[in-house]
Amino acid sequence: MANPVAMITGASVGIGEQFARQLSERGHDTVIVARDAARLEVLAKEIESGGATRAEVLVADLTDAAQLARVEERAHAVDVLVNNAGFGTFGSFHTLDIDTEIREIDLNVVALVRLTHAAASAMAERGRGGILNVSSLAGFQPGPSNATYGATKAFVTSFTEAVHEELKGTGVRVTVLCPGFTHTEFQERANVPASDLPGFLWQEAPEVARAGLDGLARNRAIVIPGAANKVMGNLSAVTPHAITRRVGAAVLKRASY
Ligand code: NAP
Repeated sequence: MANPVAMITGASVGIGEQFARQLSERGHDTVIVARDAARLEVLAKEIESGGATRAEVLVADLTDAAQLARVEERAHAVDVLVNNAGFGTFGSFHTLDIDTEIREIDLNVVALVRLTHAAASAMAERGRGGILNVSSLAGFQPGPSNATYGATKAFVTSFTEAVHEELKGTGVRVTVLCPGFTHTEFQERANVPASDLPGFLWQEAPEVARAGLDGLARNRAIVIPGAANKVMGNLSAVTPHAITRRVGAAVLKRASY
């Protein structure tokens, strides 16, 4: 019997790399997707050195329509899809480069929606499969200083919860993972010197990935990893936006300067 196949986007580093390693440990062959071919090749060799599972490298910029189409084609045939690739931008929206803001929407929203559609339609026909979409606590309230990022993640959470409900009873599991601050390259890539944020706000990538995969295995609609994040996420969900957007502004100001 061949192993089940899991595709992970943004697998070259960070939470996505952990998804790839852990899905391999759980007996899946992996299709690892990102732009950095060298990093993906190193990861694939490490995964395959275990001897039990294969790792297929698929180099693609998911903001490029033609490259995304190749990944969509491959997504039809996977048993598990983890839409993890994403990036953030920080600063007042009107001062940020508009093309980068649009690329952020292309990656965090458009690519995720297209890949979810490709995988979900094939999985529903087969009557089995799992889709894990990576959102963020940033999606629970408006995010002054990262307006576009927060809005993309609000979309991902709402979209994924709805698809979870639609696919109930079909054998296809759909889960959204909403991490808080996690030590990866994310903050550095987004130019946020976040190192002075209190330690209790931070998690490590392996525990975040594990929480997401465990939640998908149980077909949980939404997973918030970590006790502090659960409290913040649940508070945000029941607090009016007039309050949460001001609190968000204060936290992000501290992270940004
Ligand atoms: P990361 O370390 O910066 O990793 C991001 C991954 O996305 C990399 O593998 C990167 O690979 C890939 N990627 C970026 N642009 C891409 C593109 N155009 N096409 C294909 N792949 C692309 O960040 P991370 O923290 O692991 O982020 C993973 C997910 O968690 C993201 O969706 C992020 O929004 C979410 N998240 C992160 C945090 C946090 O604090 N770290 C908190 C909440 C949610 P290449 O550069 O090789 O393409």
